[in-house]
Amino acid sequence: MPVGGMEAAAFVDRARVAQVGWGARTVEERVLALAGLPDRLCEQLDRIVRVIAEENGKPAAEALAHEVVPAIALARHHLDCAATVLGPSRISSATAPYRRGMRTHRPYGVVVAIAPWNLPFLIPFSQVLPALIAGNAVVLKPSELTPGVAEVLVEVITAAGLPEGVLQLAVGDGAVGAALVEAGPDKVLFTGSVATGRKVMAAAARFPIPVGLELGGVDVAVVLEDADLEYVTSAVAWGANFNGGQACCSIERVLVHESLRAAFLVRLRDKVRRIDIERDLAPAIDERQQQVWRRHLDAARDAGLVVSGGEPVRGRHLMPAVVSGDGVTASEVWREETFGPVVAVAGFASDDEAVALHNATDYGLTASVFSADVTRARALAGRLRAGSVSVNDVAATMYSTPELPWGGVGRSGFGRSHGVDALLDASWVQVLDLPRGPAFGPKRPWWFPYDTGLEDAMRALATSLAAPHTTAKLRGYGQAGRSLLGMLSRRPKL
Ligand code: NAD
Repeated sequence: MPVGGMEAAAFVDRARVAQVGWGARTVEERVLALAGLPDRLCEQLDRIVRVIAEENGKPAAEALAHEVVPAIALARHHLDCAATVLGPSRISSATAPYRRGMRTHRPYGVVVAIAPWNLPFLIPFSQVLPALIAGNAVVLKPSELTPGVAEVLVEVITAAGLPEGVLQLAVGDGAVGAALVEAGPDKVLFTGSVATGRKVMAAAARFPIPVGLELGGVDVAVVLEDADLEYVTSAVAWGANFNGGQACCSIERVLVHESLRAAFLVRLRDKVRRIDIERDLAPAIDERQQQVWRRHLDAARDAGLVVSGGEPVRGRHLMPAVVSGDGVTASEVWREETFGPVVAVAGFASDDEAVALHNATDYGLTASVFSADVTRARALAGRLRAGSVSVNDVAATMYSTPELPWGGVGRSGFGRSHGVDALLDASWVQVLDLPRGPAFGPKRPWWFPYDTGLEDAMRALATSLAAPHTTAKLRGYGQAGRSLLGMLSRRPKL
């Protein structure tokens, strides 16, 4: 498949060559090479925001707050902690005190990163940077809807100090993404829809190559009966509609305690109506996305569930919609990802029911719990099946906390970006097993010919090992340990 005149396989081959030198550097050297990146991002901030706003359609304020500033924070985080996270660490073994274990992190080699359009800067950035720091070469395939943002991203990272070919941009549609996976890189990082994620994983399974999948979500806010209605309706009105509701972590569903439901709906409807559509609401990215909104809302309207909004406005805008009523939990809006300015609201009577309704979906990206009692909310949060759960906040882990790992469970995917987990996911663990003390000693008692007394020593050792030992060392295993150590230190027979 030709990509800008080059075959997809040629991108992977070129990356493979460039990776050799990059991967041979120490983590500290790679961090040093990229040390100027946060400053370069700051210098280019206005340009990046402008390109995101132009190409994706989101307000400049969102481009800044949800993409560029978080990217700078991520860069700072990864550069600051990479040497500690990816550096070698010692592991001593209770059963082999005569050995020295080392845990090291090695780059995969060539990583193909495939990104969506909805956060066209932050998502590819959070895929690419940890992979580079870990020593991989990366081929980035951005969404065909936002190639210009990716071009700036690659330019800025490369100019910060990357050797030629270590980061390449392969622009094109899904066929290009598929061809890059077919070309046999060493790992694929994919963020996008569940449907495409399945295809990527199936293609990668043929080799097999590891994949990280960050997929869709139908994220839920759970509102307990003691929640501050003014605060929570502001949070939901924003969480459901920023970026025109086109975020994987948009609040698509609200579970509100029955005692608050009527008042909640009135306030939410009023807040949503007051959103400045021209200034603050991103339009549908394209006609395909608009059709999904229309299909879900038409079905909700036919079922008498639309409380307010949903009317088309100029261009690809939609009046943000609130959906609720009997049977809402069976509607498409509730069960499927709408990825638009639409939020569905249902009631619950007890915490157990809220947990059951939340966990009834196959998705599990983010969730929120709102309550005046943070201890109770924390306990409930721990029962929700979602990659991250915020108490009294929404979507916060996406843009405001580079230290916290980001990712889902179930249909929302697996693997983690952000935090130290992103660096760990970009590398594989190699164990180095070294002698402690002299380079060579006597042969092991369990090598041929087996030592007399080995069986007795092993039987005694089995019993000792089965017992709980908090700070166990072989020396502490009584007679069994002593006799094994004796065998290990015996002079070889001449
Ligand atoms: P998409 O699945 O249509 O496309 C994503 C990327 O995959 C694009 O670059 C596309 O060109 C490429 N692609 C398409 N077919 C391919 C194939 N067969 N092989 C390889 N690559 C292929 O998704 P989208 O519409 O761009 O993005 C919206 C979706 O992404 C939503 O479902 C949203 O929830 C999800 N998303 C998830 C996260 C997360 O962190 N979990 C973040 C953002 C978006």
